[in-house]
Amino acid sequence: MEQPNLKDIILNAGFKFNKNLGQNFISDKNLLDAIVADSGVNENDVVVEIGTGGGTLTRALSEKAGRVISFEVDKTLKPVLDVTLAGANNVEVVFKDVLKMSDEELKSVVGERFKLVANLPYYITTPLIMRLIESELFVETITVMVQKEVADRLVANVGSKDYASISLAIQSYGEAHITRTVKRDMFFPKPNVDSAVVKITLDKTKLDGYDKELVHHLIRAAFAMRRKTLVNNLSVAFSISKDEATKKVTDAGFAPLIRGEALSLENFLTLSRQFEN
Ligand code: SAM
Repeated sequence: MEQPNLKDIILNAGFKFNKNLGQNFISDKNLLDAIVADSGVNENDVVVEIGTGGGTLTRALSEKAGRVISFEVDKTLKPVLDVTLAGANNVEVVFKDVLKMSDEELKSVVGERFKLVANLPYYITTPLIMRLIESELFVETITVMVQKEVADRLVANVGSKDYASISLAIQSYGEAHITRTVKRDMFFPKPNVDSAVVKITLDKTKLDGYDKELVHHLIRAAFAMRRKTLVNNLSVAFSISKDEATKKVTDAGFAPLIRGEALSLENFLTLSRQFEN
């Protein structure tokens, strides 16, 4: 089907962009198809999209997926979507704030198993990704467009300047990589930053055999104050003396003055053994 001219449709519908909702839309069909290809969705998949916007990514997804359920908080987009999604019979738009929905409510709408594909509103990126990877919902893959600097943090490895607790949180639940970078000119209205598409393939067995809560507590603690040593951060977070923290760190095989950012996920798993009862 021929690509509708989104700008004209938006103008005709009298739609006004809301900056606070992160409304930066994409209309380039090649880019939309490339994001769908990155996600690897096919006719056997249920796809959940967060932020329907003008429905362009939704429509591109509907051409490959079995079913698309797309959430949008802004009801004033309805007249736009009535045009852009006309005839897309495997699409369901749900006008709800996805952040206010419980896992149970989400499950009742989307079912047991799905792939998430979205050009995310910038302000919900981190809480949403954390929630999805930590929840009991069966999310197979997450393919999301986010700000480039956030993308760099999501996929960073030990030794990189972008390495952060969220990099480790993601590594502990799966594998993440950047599939493409996208210049700001590809959006309208044009944002102030470039973006990138990150694909996360979830594997919730990676921490099997370890105390998950403990591992994540250790990771958060290690990055709480980046300039402090691991020992100092652990001593505060676990309410133990510095001597005790030093013993645990050195017994795990690390130098007493090491910083948290020097530890890989493997290293955190090793360290967690020292904190198990
Ligand atoms: N998917 C479209 C595209 O690629 O052109 C729109 C992407 S735009 C970056 C993000 C969309 O998410 C906006 O339409 C915005 O209204 C919507 N949105 C923002 N917060 C939301 C929330 N909490 N729940 C659902 N949708 C939300």
